[in-house]
Amino acid sequence: MCHTRFVFNRFRRRRPPVKPAKPAMPPPFLFSPTPPSPVRGSDSAIPGWRKWDDGLWYPARPSCAPGACGTPEAAGTRGNELRIHTEPQNTDAEAWRHLLDLIDEAAADRRKAFRPRRKAFRPRESMLALGFWHEIVTLPPTIAKLTAVRELDLYGSHLIAIPPQIGEMSALSTFDPYTSHRLHWYPYEITRCAKLRHSRVSTRFLYGNFKNRLPFPRLPATLPAGSLPPSCSVCRGAFGSRGPIQRWISLWVATDVLPLLVHACSEACVNALPAPADGYVDHPHQGGPDLAQPPTEDGYDTNRLREILDPKRRVRS
Ligand SMILES: [Zn+2]
Repeated sequence: MCHTRFVFNRFRRRRPPVKPAKPAMPPPFLFSPTPPSPVRGSDSAIPGWRKWDDGLWYPARPSCAPGACGTPEAAGTRGNELRIHTEPQNTDAEAWRHLLDLIDEAAADRRKAFRPRRKAFRPRESMLALGFWHEIVTLPPTIAKLTAVRELDLYGSHLIAIPPQIGEMSALSTFDPYTSHRLHWYPYEITRCAKLRHSRVSTRFLYGNFKNRLPFPRLPATLPAGSLPPSCSVCRGAFGSRGPIQRWISLWVATDVLPLLVHACSEACVNALPAPADGYVDHPHQGGPDLAQPPTEDGYDTNRLREILDPKRRVRS
């Protein structure tokens, strides 16, 4: 080792490690009045919430309850048929009122980009933003007023459904619900957004996606509030006395194939649906655990995948 390097290393060793001043911790903030009396130090579990190091409870990550859905492992297990999320939206929550105001605001000033998570809750730092964002599980029908919005940013949302009124957002060209892990399907009405060109969705969480062929829930199914369109998804005609006919269809929407839920007024409207995307179930269908789907990208067909994942089935067969 040359002398210069030796001196340099000694110098380096002796220099006290640079420790940046520890930033002051933000005051602990309880995100939401939703959980029942969350208290510091409580050890009882609050469903959907988890306790962090500071002893306070925070909303869980936006994903499905373990074993509920979102994974073929869960869905493929016998007796665990996939169901559509129907968690109710708390419309008394401050978050919901805030969202309604934001939409009105954005509609009034003809905003081109609507980013409720980023814009809405700026004053109280991003952490609070996340807290509020967790309380939003559906969007109100007033999104129909956002006719100037070109970009809809729903990144990381806890949404369980997009209302059919998204079809009225006629200027929409970019749709980003990425990492919204409870959004497994979309309303057929999204195909009315004629300018929609760009999308970013978490593919693995979509019903029928090519990566794991997440099974489609059986139709007819109960939907979360606000998911039923006012008229036929196809012809906009009134529903007959028998009510809408629900069907799944996988179609290209912008840059993704999305599982779309159709509410048709008649068999004629079901028959008028476009051809499904290549590589997906090739007809409008009613889902259910016995629906045959094309193989996954890894070459497993859904039934084979379920056999692998479910030891009981493997033994029986
Ligand atoms: Zn119709």
